[in-house]
Amino acid sequence: MSDSARDSVLAPLDARMADLESLYEDLHRHPELGFQETRTAAEAARRLTSYGYEVTTGIGRTGVTGVLRNGPGPVVLLRADMDALPVTERSSLPYASAVPGVMHACGHDVHVTCLAGAADLLAAGREHWSGTLVVLFQPAEEVGDGARAMIEDGLFGAAADGSAAPSDAGAGADGQGRVPTPDVVLAQHVAPLGAGLITYAPGACMAASDSLKITFHGTGGHGSRPETAVDPIVMAAAFVQRLQSVVAREVAPKDRAVVTVGSFQAGDAPNVIPDQAVVQLSVRTFDEDVRSRVLAAVDRIARAEATASGAEREPETEVLNTFPVTRNDDRTLERVNAAFTDHFGAQRLFGYEPAAGSEDAGLIATAAGAPLYYWWLGGWDPDEFRAAMSSGRLAQDIPSNHSPHFTPVKQPTLTMGVQALTVAALSHLEPGK
Ligand SMILES: [Zn+2]
Ligand SMILES: [Zn+2]
Repeated sequence: MSDSARDSVLAPLDARMADLESLYEDLHRHPELGFQETRTAAEAARRLTSYGYEVTTGIGRTGVTGVLRNGPGPVVLLRADMDALPVTERSSLPYASAVPGVMHACGHDVHVTCLAGAADLLAAGREHWSGTLVVLFQPAEEVGDGARAMIEDGLFGAAADGSAAPSDAGAGADGQGRVPTPDVVLAQHVAPLGAGLITYAPGACMAASDSLKITFHGTGGHGSRPETAVDPIVMAAAFVQRLQSVVAREVAPKDRAVVTVGSFQAGDAPNVIPDQAVVQLSVRTFDEDVRSRVLAAVDRIARAEATASGAEREPETEVLNTFPVTRNDDRTLERVNAAFTDHFGAQRLFGYEPAAGSEDAGLIATAAGAPLYYWWLGGWDPDEFRAAMSSGRLAQDIPSNHSPHFTPVKQPTLTMGVQALTVAALSHLEPGK
C-alpha cells in the first residue's frame, strides 16, 4: 500500500467527522447492555448498507456483519464490540447516558463509531485496494458470550447449534459461513492513555479470565447455639483469607496472576446462622499452566475449608464466564505497526505492559484460524494525561475503563481510531489497480 493510496482513502475523513462525532454522542447517550444492542445494531446495519456492504443482522442474537468483496486478495476482518455496562454515569457531559443505570463505561461506543468510519472510508476508496473486507459489530463482550454466540451461529460456517467448530477442509470456506473466513483479525480498544497515542503488547496482551461462583453449605441454627450449627460464614471467610496466599505462595515471581473476590453473600439477620454462603471471584492469568494451577488451588482450598469446618456437603462451583488469553501474532503486529509508524510517526506508538483485563476478540481469530492483532487507542485528554503522568498520579487521576467517570475525549480519539483501523486494514489488503 503506497502512502498516496492510503492518503487518498483517508482524505474524506475530515469531511465525515462531524457526522461521526454526532454518531458517537448518540451512541453514548443510548447505551445498551449485552445482547440488547438492537438500536446500535440497527444503526450499524443501516450505515453498512448505505456504504454498499452485503449486510447480515441478528448473528448471535444482535451481531451485525458487512462484507465488501473488492477483487482478489486477502480477507481482512475488522471487529468492534457494541455493549455497555450496568454502571450509572457520573459525568456531566451534555451527551451523558439517558438510560438509568447503564453507561458506555468501557468505550465500546468509540469502537462502533471508529469502525463505522473506517468501513465508510474503505468502501468509498475501494479503487485503492483489492481483497475482501469483513466488518463485524459484536454483541455482549462484557459478559464474555458475544463472540462465542456469533461463532456458534455459523459466522464462519460452524453448525448453528455450536456442535462443530469450523476448522479444516472447507468448513468455514466462503459461501458456507455467514461471512468469508478472514486471513487476519484486527481490533482495538480505547484505554485510559493520552488521546493521540496507540499502545500495544506483543504476545499475550490481555489476560485469561475465569469468573466463578462458589456456594458453601453449612448447617443453619440459632445465633446463640453455634454448637448445633456449621457456620458457612466462618467457612467462606477462611476460604477468602486463604485465597490471598495463592498468588503470593503458589505462583512463581516471573508469572502473573490476580485472584479477586468481588462478592460475598450470606445470611439476613444478626442472630441466625445461615445455611449457606456464596462467594463470587475472578481469576486472571496470562498462561495456560498458571491458569490451571490457580484454578486447581481455588478448588482445593474451597473443599479443604469446607472439610475443616465439618461441612456435611462439599461446596459447589459454577463457572460464570471464561475468556481465553488474548494473544497477538508477532508478524501481524509488526506489519501493522510498521504501517502505523509510517502514517502516525513513531512518537505516537508505544509498547506497553499486558493488561489484566480480558477480551473475547481472540475467539473470533481462533475460530477463523487467523492471526490477531489487538491494540489500545488512547482516549484521555492529552494535557490531563501528561499532567497526571508527570505528578505520578496516573492511577488516581485518570479513570479506568468501567469507571462511572470513564468518558474518552472525542478528539483526537475518534480521528485516530478511524485512521488506525483503516491503516491496519490497508496494511493487509492488496494495492488497487
Ligand atoms: Zn469492559
Ligand atoms: Zn471493553
